[in-house]
Amino acid sequence: MKKLISAVFFMAAVLSGVNSGFAQQTQPALECGSTEYYNDMLHNDPEFAVNQALLEQFTEDYTGSYIEERKSRSEQRGASSAVRIIPVVFHVFHNFGPENISKAQILSSIEMLNEHFRKLHADTVDVPAVFKPIAADSEIEFRLATLDPNGNCTDGIVRVVSPLTYNASNNIKAVSYWPSNKYLNIWVANTVVSAGSGNVVAGYSQFPGGNPLTDGIVMDYQYVGTTGTVNSGNLGRTVIHEIGHWFNLRHIWGDANCGNDFVSDTPTHEWHHLGQCPSHPFHVNQCGAGSSPDGEMTGNYMDYSTGVCRNIFSMGQAARMNAALASSTSGRNNLWDPANLVATGTAPGTSPVPCAPTAAFNDQDK
Ligand code: ZN
Ligand code: CA
Repeated sequence: MKKLISAVFFMAAVLSGVNSGFAQQTQPALECGSTEYYNDMLHNDPEFAVNQALLEQFTEDYTGSYIEERKSRSEQRGASSAVRIIPVVFHVFHNFGPENISKAQILSSIEMLNEHFRKLHADTVDVPAVFKPIAADSEIEFRLATLDPNGNCTDGIVRVVSPLTYNASNNIKAVSYWPSNKYLNIWVANTVVSAGSGNVVAGYSQFPGGNPLTDGIVMDYQYVGTTGTVNSGNLGRTVIHEIGHWFNLRHIWGDANCGNDFVSDTPTHEWHHLGQCPSHPFHVNQCGAGSSPDGEMTGNYMDYSTGVCRNIFSMGQAARMNAALASSTSGRNNLWDPANLVATGTAPGTSPVPCAPTAAFNDQDK
């Protein structure tokens, strides 16, 4: 109870920080608004609740066979034989300010995502030894679209000049949107307000099963990529976290004191670690009977720890994400379908034809 009370006080302090600095907010006090949005949809969209329940059942069945299937697959054919490619479009909403991030910054985000989702990044050395056996290559990759929904040439970046870039929320999505069963929509804005809570956040995501027209991720420009305007403490890793939600991952602390994230191999966490990077082992047996003797996995992408701290998806999380991608819920299983990869210009082994040069009216596109 004492822990719960201190957690409530902590959240209250965070929330009051948001309220007092709302207009001048340059660094969101809250990492992510996805859970609030999830709860909002759960209460207001009966279809979302049904879709989520069905997906949870599907995930349970899928996860059971996934890990065994992966073992035999890697024995037979070697690793990386089952990589799923996700076509991506960035919609950059800007008012000629720093939120109009460069193409280089967007490319750095894609590169970073592929390193972390495939467990190819240098920080894997920092994964505690006890968690190394379950550190997962999720076998998911991301590519900027080279064909738009009309089959026209694109670099996968749409730039929209609009004052909606300030305190952007679901209101920007209808202005620029590509079908969410074919592309992962990532909207980038100056400041972001969670659709569920009204809090200023670094980003928020829509879980599978919701309205297709709002399906995607909204990101504050300071939390995208590894270069340019990116926040040096975050290193753009919030995008990994938000895509985790888009693939149906919950927060590792289960959004409650010693809560459940519906992943069996992640240790139960007492709470999140916003802005912290605790040394391992940490909080051993903190959650009583549900605890892991190995302590908490504070480097998990679905925690709130510092950017440099975050370095692991577990095998169970990889299974859960791949379940979402194998499911027809929100058409996630169509994203990586070979026909869709051809239609979006992201098929493996193909080098896209570069777009014909157009009049350079925007320096950011160079
Ligand atoms: Zn989150
Ligand atoms: Ca767990």
